[in-house]
Amino acid sequence: MDLSRLFAPGRVALVGATEREGSVGRAIAENLIAEFRGEVVFVNPNVEEVFGRRALDRVSEADDVDLAVVAVPVDLAVEVVREVGGSGVENVVVITAGFSEGGSEGATRERELVQVAEEYGLNLVGPNSLGVISTPVGLNATFAPRGASSGPVSFMSQSGAFITAVLDWGADRDLGFKDVVSLGNKAVLDERDFVEAWGDDPDTDVVLGYLESIEDGREFVGTAREVTRETPVVVVKSGRTEAGAHAAASHTGAIAGSEAAYEAGFRQAGIIRAESAQDLFDFGAILAGQPLPEQDGVAVVTNAGGPGVMATDAVGDSGLALASFEGATHEALAGALPGNANVYNPVDVIGDAPVGRFREALEVVLADGNVGAAVVVACPTATFEFDALARAVMDVQDEHGLPVAVCLMGGASTRSAAGRLSEAGIPSYFDPERAVRSLDVLRRYGEVRKRDNVEPREFDVNRERARNVLERAARGGETRVGVEAMELLDAYGIPIPEGAVVGSPADAVAAADRIYEATDAGADFEGVVMKIVSPDILHKSDIGGVKVGVALEEVYDAYEDLVARARNYQPSATVVGVQVQERLDLDASVETIVGVNRDPQFGPLVLFGLGGIFVEVLEDTTVRLAPVSEPEARGMLDDLQAAPLLHGARGREPVDEEAVVAIVQRLSRLATDFPAILELDINPLIAAPDGATAVDLRLTIDPEEL
Ligand code: ADP
Ligand code: MG
Repeated sequence: MDLSRLFAPGRVALVGATEREGSVGRAIAENLIAEFRGEVVFVNPNVEEVFGRRALDRVSEADDVDLAVVAVPVDLAVEVVREVGGSGVENVVVITAGFSEGGSEGATRERELVQVAEEYGLNLVGPNSLGVISTPVGLNATFAPRGASSGPVSFMSQSGAFITAVLDWGADRDLGFKDVVSLGNKAVLDERDFVEAWGDDPDTDVVLGYLESIEDGREFVGTAREVTRETPVVVVKSGRTEAGAHAAASHTGAIAGSEAAYEAGFRQAGIIRAESAQDLFDFGAILAGQPLPEQDGVAVVTNAGGPGVMATDAVGDSGLALASFEGATHEALAGALPGNANVYNPVDVIGDAPVGRFREALEVVLADGNVGAAVVVACPTATFEFDALARAVMDVQDEHGLPVAVCLMGGASTRSAAGRLSEAGIPSYFDPERAVRSLDVLRRYGEVRKRDNVEPREFDVNRERARNVLERAARGGETRVGVEAMELLDAYGIPIPEGAVVGSPADAVAAADRIYEATDAGADFEGVVMKIVSPDILHKSDIGGVKVGVALEEVYDAYEDLVARARNYQPSATVVGVQVQERLDLDASVETIVGVNRDPQFGPLVLFGLGGIFVEVLEDTTVRLAPVSEPEARGMLDDLQAAPLLHGARGREPVDEEAVVAIVQRLSRLATDFPAILELDINPLIAAPDGATAVDLRLTIDPEEL
């Protein structure tokens, strides 16, 4: 899709142009004639002229219109857009409101609008849009009271009001934009289209977005994943989607909700997520202005002890690290600074430091081989002016080419210095924590750039067998299935223990004997595991429905006891039988969870975490969109707080990470192959030093999808 003429039109037609005080049509007309380098035509059949220009009756009377801006009453809007399409215009911004944002009549009207757009192949922004801005050509086709100053950042927003607020706020902050688009109802063009267009745009260095929803999560992630290799994308996502929310019947369903899906999607796409409007613009500014660090070491240079410590703490909390200086750096600092200065990181140049001393210290630390970035923290003193400091920082930054952030810890006296720095692309803040957080975003984006985009692997699996298991389960009319479907995992190469689901105590004994034979343990045999199998019992151990270490001679009685417990718990419970399972050694292993959930916007998700019966208490899980690639699956293990446990903490043997990584990939493939699997938990997946085994299974099936 080519949106170049949308942002750089030669001729713009405003349909609904008027001089009527207080009207949207007037505000847009004024903004259009203010600075646009191209030509503007006004269309309004009810008036002769608008601001001294002859008003045309219809858009078809003008030739070569690249962009039509439609600001007409809502009942005329669809017809006007049809005429726009009919006269060969390709780009349309529909300002008019009264579509799907309000009521069913509006929704119907929006469907008509989409049909017209499809018929003529229109690039349509809106409806219910504030408009678009493109500073290189002076285009302001919005009704915002203020335009944008120019810069390398392109910004899309689902809220028009947020744009007007940002433009006003940005006016005295040197916040410059290349393009700004108010997405409105996103009837045709949506966030994916703009991310794609700006990814190809040489004048856009950073893409920012304020989004309340994402039209098609999967497609958006696919496009953004390509774009973020070259261009950073930062998004604030507000609001939580309720669509498709259902009562979860699994741990994964409960944990991997829509928030987790957004988190996963953004992360896989390489999108930096901002939590607030302030972060959005802080991150945008530093990404646009500063180079990416080549290493994580940060030097702090301050003239005040306390704020220096604040910066140091913030570095500790971030993904960055306080740089440890080379010996030569300490020597050079000792030569340049007075005896009571601190020549270790954080470098304290002392409160009486003139600008020259700041400058020297900064030069020395930026030349250190362990330093990737610097934070300068300055409090007001009698010995220097912030403006002079700004100049020094600009010079040194320019010379060394490493990213620098500045804390000007003051108010009115810092303003002009902040302005100078910002013009040079160096961000400044009051708060050291904010400076460090922004620098950390450079590091995060650096990681995005560095990563290999590896495709998810195809595994040798038995799809037919998996389908048969699901169909068999669905034929019984049950949508909730448990360990009786373990074969499903086997079909996808996920190891399961020896075992069988049996319907009588005698069969249980036979199954236990077979396990005894197969394990070949002889006198060391530690018994079997027996579990009640019932679709009505979600968590078996809660009702004493799991017995670990049942000796062969106890199996018969254990069967009867398990069934009795189930009856006792719920007399009407359907009891499928009892599973007799090989007992695994838990001493050297970690109980983990691998699961699947399905999100209405993002599709199948895979979850991995610390498992067992306390999974929701431990809350140590991570989610990705399925299918996952090998590096993504590996990243999931590292995400966990419990990662050291897997890697072999405190003299324990590490678990077989390769086995776990493979299982996460295989399960993510299963989820992708079978939309009928709505939710699935393998909990626990027992990760041992020599392999990983799924000992429990729970899933929900949608028979319609089979
Ligand atoms: P539920 O989750 O319904 O309570 P599980 O089958 O997950 O039932 O079993 C509960 C716990 O019992 C597991 O977390 C694990 O600690 C233990 N367990 C289950 N199966 C085995 C097995 N085959 N070997 C060893 N321990 C097991
Ligand atoms: Mg379980």
